[in-house]
Amino acid sequence: MSDIAKNIAEIKEKIAFSEKKAGRKAGSVKLMAVSKFHPAESVIDAINAGQNLFGENRVQEASAKFEQLRSQGFNPELHIIGSLQRNKVKEAVRIASCIESVDRIELMQEIEKQCARYSEESGAEKKIEILFEIHTGEDSKSGFESNDLLLDAVSRCASGEFPHLVVKGLMTMAPNTTDESLIRASFRTLKKLQGELSSQYPSLSFDELSMGMSNDYPIAIEEGSTIVRVGTAIFGERDYSK
Ligand SMILES: *Cc1c(COP(=O)(O)O)cnc(C)c1O
Repeated sequence: MSDIAKNIAEIKEKIAFSEKKAGRKAGSVKLMAVSKFHPAESVIDAINAGQNLFGENRVQEASAKFEQLRSQGFNPELHIIGSLQRNKVKEAVRIASCIESVDRIELMQEIEKQCARYSEESGAEKKIEILFEIHTGEDSKSGFESNDLLLDAVSRCASGEFPHLVVKGLMTMAPNTTDESLIRASFRTLKKLQGELSSQYPSLSFDELSMGMSNDYPIAIEEGSTIVRVGTAIFGERDYSK
């Protein structure tokens, strides 16, 4: 068994334990393997261990890697989780099933435009799932800049302005700290917002809460996470010099 397979098995056990501890249904939390900075070979190890959902934060890197995987007959699901520039959206909608890092209306407009264009070209309707990325901690840099901008974006989705975008929920990153109370507060903020948006916009679905990473996913599960994004604990440390 590869180290990656062992790590995945271990994390799945911990997820099951946390689900149980929190009184949640078994299987209510999906594991995303964050493969940024790791090669296609590592992704294949994970696929062979039964992993099908992956996350990448840079479109160019993801595109090259997942192209290679497809040429080898693998077709895993990919979510984009990093801040996204407009000129990368065209490629992002071609390789990913979900963009979790939606943080501004201009980005939504570009995603809508590229999905419409792709639908026209391919003759098949291309829709993409999105999560709204939210600031919930002191030191977080990414996410909607204000609650007003978020509410504007959500209400424009509800009124049908973005027919190719399928709203699935919310995403956040907890502050990078060892203070568990700050991390927990961040996740609770996202959970609370989910409740508010769900009742305010009943035509949209906010079922998915993408929160929790290698260092804090058990806490995230206790606070209601449905997708945990785990990189280092599966693939090891990233080599940023590459
Ligand atoms: C890199 C990254 C992760 C994974 O982080 P680890 O600490 O390695 O588990 C999760 N979410 C986002 C948005 C990331 O950029």
